[in-house]
Amino acid sequence: MEQTLSIIKPDAVAKNVVGKILDRFESAGLRIAATRKMQLSRADAEAFYAVHAERPFFGELVEFMISGPVVVSVLEGVNAMSINRDLMGATNPKEAAAGTIRADFADSIDANAVHGSDSVENAANEIKFFFSDREIC
Ligand code: ATP
Ligand code: MG
Repeated sequence: MEQTLSIIKPDAVAKNVVGKILDRFESAGLRIAATRKMQLSRADAEAFYAVHAERPFFGELVEFMISGPVVVSVLEGVNAMSINRDLMGATNPKEAAAGTIRADFADSIDANAVHGSDSVENAANEIKFFFSDREIC
């Protein structure tokens, strides 16, 4: 059984499609092992996306991620990390396959509705960043 971290980003929360996106995960056979709505601080967003600190879009990415609340979740299932990445679609919603979350709910490469861990190793670190063991069940 594998776990991965999902973030429903501020654009999708503002569109009131949290339930529709969580339904995509459950309908694909993933289980929601933990979930929480929260407002990220600037320090949270900078730490979470530290891997992108040198990229030209880092400042905008941080501003966007703190522009409103997010919903963070731990998704669990066989191949949960890659199943979630498939459900999300390409980073740029204009390139995302039909029927993916980003094709259906995202507007632009920065306001792209969801984050998902991109490796099992990163997933473990991202889950620890947001949740304690007793919150995951
Ligand atoms: P995420 O990490 O959010 O799941 P991803 O793994 O598909 O998305 P990354 O390459 O890790 O994409 O980029 C992280 C985030 O940075 C993207 O989701 C997007 O919001 C933003 N981003 C990536 N590339 C660009 C870009 N060229 N211009 C603006 N924002 C970008
Ligand atoms: Mg990424």
